[in-house]
Amino acid sequence: MCTRCDRPISATSPASPWQLRRAFLLIAAGVAFSRPALSQVNVGNASVARNLVPADKIEAAGVQQYGQLLAQARAKNALAGDNNAQLQRLRAIAQRLIPFATPWNTRAREWKWEVNLIGSKQINAFCMPGGKIAFFTGILEQLKLSDDEVAMVMGHEMAHALREHARARMAKSAGTGAALSIGAQLLGLGQVGDLAARAGTQLITLKFSRGDETEADLVGLELAARAGYDPKASVSLWNKMATASKNQGGLSFLSTHPSGTDRIAKLEANIPKVESLYRNAKRS
Ligand SMILES: [Zn+2]
Repeated sequence: MCTRCDRPISATSPASPWQLRRAFLLIAAGVAFSRPALSQVNVGNASVARNLVPADKIEAAGVQQYGQLLAQARAKNALAGDNNAQLQRLRAIAQRLIPFATPWNTRAREWKWEVNLIGSKQINAFCMPGGKIAFFTGILEQLKLSDDEVAMVMGHEMAHALREHARARMAKSAGTGAALSIGAQLLGLGQVGDLAARAGTQLITLKFSRGDETEADLVGLELAARAGYDPKASVSLWNKMATASKNQGGLSFLSTHPSGTDRIAKLEANIPKVESLYRNAKRS
């Protein structure tokens, strides 16, 4: 037995040829299924590196940490009840967005989507791997978000989960240089527990790359347009964020989501691509 993790030493021994072959197949399969054929925004394929970390471990960590956060909020009497009007509004918007999620990630079919509202002045919102969404009252109240703008925030956060950005970050932090050997170790279950534990501590505060942020903006824009939310709200949302960051600074969402002219320019350039989706959704 290994004295550090109580696992048999053989769990981290060199991978067999069939394990290596399976690692290659998993990576290839991830590329093939990572982008829906009919998408309007152009975001390319999801990161190959993410396939080195098992999706179910990251999702399980997300579900577990979401549960802890809700328990903490409940203990402080800061978790909105089912009758809360703002929570009902958030859940209604999520119900319109969720049907369009699966083409971006077939695993989402099995996710138990959940939306909760936490009483906090923080301008913040997130969607954990596995479809666990939370908004803080601060983002709704301080930015006075319209339904279209809420849909843009929610779509953006759902896109991070659907594109498995957290999973890719975990894989990359494990070291892409030795990608194959890590994949083999994961298949041999050598490091799965460690990675899941690390995911559990990092998911809420995870800062994504600029590329991940652009992807989340564009995939979120398309999700919201397909659900019948005005794509122009993406621009008004980020203008509000820019004003808030000037006035208040240091807030969670704003510190991980800089609202620059580059971000707004990319959204403006993509609005025409999803306009017809929005108009068709409004008609139906
Ligand atoms: Zn983001």
